[in-house]
Amino acid sequence: MGERLRAHLRARSRFVIQVREASESSRSSGVILADRLTESHTVGFEQLSEKGVDIHENQSITRTDFHEFTDEYDLVVDATGQPSLSSKALGTTNEYSGYMVALNSDVEGDFTELYPNSRIILENYTGYSWAFPKTSQRANVGIGWTVSDRPNDYMKALREACERNGWPVPSQERTNVAIIPEGPSLDPDRTHLPEHSVVRVGDAAGIANRLTGKGISQAVESGFLAAELANRSQLHNYPDRLYQRMKTEYIFATVVRYFLETNRRGGTDFHWSWS
Ligand SMILES: Cc1cc2nc3c(=O)[nH]c(=O)nc-3n(C[C@H](O)[C@H](O)[C@H](O)COP(=O)(O)OP(=O)(O)OC[C@H]3O[C@@H](n4cnc5c(N)ncnc54)[C@H](O)[C@@H]3O)c2cc1C
Repeated sequence: MGERLRAHLRARSRFVIQVREASESSRSSGVILADRLTESHTVGFEQLSEKGVDIHENQSITRTDFHEFTDEYDLVVDATGQPSLSSKALGTTNEYSGYMVALNSDVEGDFTELYPNSRIILENYTGYSWAFPKTSQRANVGIGWTVSDRPNDYMKALREACERNGWPVPSQERTNVAIIPEGPSLDPDRTHLPEHSVVRVGDAAGIANRLTGKGISQAVESGFLAAELANRSQLHNYPDRLYQRMKTEYIFATVVRYFLETNRRGGTDFHWSWS
């Protein structure tokens, strides 16, 4: 059998991409498992499909599947969020140190005054509420807290924040609740597990911003970095390269968060916003 590149790529929207280049042209050269394909995914996937990659949607990967993948493939890319599937399968979910909780929803209403700007409001807890208008009539509204500051009733807190800020109140059914890593929430050395052929990207690598909760750009960046290094057989450099790229952001987020928390503990009641 000729040279083979084999990988699994787990990504947002629950898809797993398994790439296998085999010398026999009649063989499938890969497989993608996905639960929700958007139009942009479909365009990229069509190109991959032409190269012999199979795409699978709506497939929940079990711990047993995970162990089979790591036995069978040279590389498994874990992008399952925090705590990652690899940590569940390996019994190490406690290796993640911290997380934030956030809720958001797409609402319709009058955002003419705000659009095309966004608004983030700090309200005397570690976290914030936000309105990100998509158009003058529609916005993503939400709220997030660090674990120590999260309320007992998340939905009530979101409703109250919307009322305070004059935004439409979303229904519970249309509201997402999820956690975000307090990056770096994972020891950088644990982002690559060569003994299991696993590399972790995005939230699975624990690299979201501990101040803002931003994690999309890090997910993209770490995915590219892992692919680039895998292509050059240099994945052993991934933990260090990833940490070096994130370091400035980690430091800035840690310092600003410290000042916000100290300011609040000092008794200053703040409620301010920028847009
Ligand atoms: C309410 C909220 C608002 C946010 N707003 C922003 C924002 O404005 N900007 C920003 O940059 N970041 C934001 N974030 C953070 C951002 O969403 C994440 O950091 C980012 O999505 C991480 O991408 P990811 O691909 O690593 O993980 P995820 O987006 O979490 O994707 C992981 C995927 O893996 C799937 N999965 C998990 N386990 C399995 C399994 N066993 N089998 C199959 N599939 C599985 C999940 O269903 C999910 O689809 C927000 C987060 C929340 C919760």
